[in-house]
Amino acid sequence: MRLILLGAPGAGKGTQAVHLAKYFKIPHISTGDIFRANLKAGTPLGVQAQSFMDRGELVADSVTNEMVKDRLTHDDVAHGFLLDGFPRNVAQAEVLRAILAEKKTPLHAVLEFSLANEEIVARLSSRRTCKDCFQPSVGVDKCPSCGGDVYQREDDKAEVIARRLEVYQEQTAPIISFYRNEGLLISVSAAGNVEDITASAISALSRVAQ
Ligand code: ADP
Ligand code: ZN
Repeated sequence: MRLILLGAPGAGKGTQAVHLAKYFKIPHISTGDIFRANLKAGTPLGVQAQSFMDRGELVADSVTNEMVKDRLTHDDVAHGFLLDGFPRNVAQAEVLRAILAEKKTPLHAVLEFSLANEEIVARLSSRRTCKDCFQPSVGVDKCPSCGGDVYQREDDKAEVIARRLEVYQEQTAPIISFYRNEGLLISVSAAGNVEDITASAISALSRVAQ
């Protein structure tokens, strides 16, 4: 299964990605997590990405595309992958289409999580993130997945949230119609509890691909 997850920041993409990757036994590739891991390790890539991330802006396409292109050469993508946070604009979607066309491994589906704006803001401002594995959580001191300490991401602070939502509307939302035109789009409501949303995503995906 080669799959993309789409949805505004805070729609729960990252949480659902972990469950879906496990269910379909495919690697979860989150560009945000890769940037945060590089930031933590102090690599040149991390240093380059930090100011964009802290302001809620997109990291330059040239940097992001190269990083994803490289990630998609790893052996673990032989049986598919789940991309979370990429593509984030039409230019990235076109680069991805070209990479996959060259490898003759086209996408099976693009899953969009939809959620009302007020709910998005409420979720983002109460969200915490694991320092070790970057898993998001709400209302806990330790990461539910690995026990690591949690912190509030710089870009989950109120001032930056507004900008991220703007960037999503302006740059990322247009790829929803891009994939609808390709016949790949599946939309699932992101309201409700985590397990129910995972279940509806799995049932929608089982109808289109394996
Ligand atoms: P969320 O989905 O919660 O907004 P992510 O963890 O996916 O957050 O991304 C955090 C930040 O990392 C983004 O705001 C952006 O600065 C950077 N980033 C992640 N993916 C991309 C991408 N595909 N293109 C450009 N920047 C990206
Ligand atoms: Zn963790």
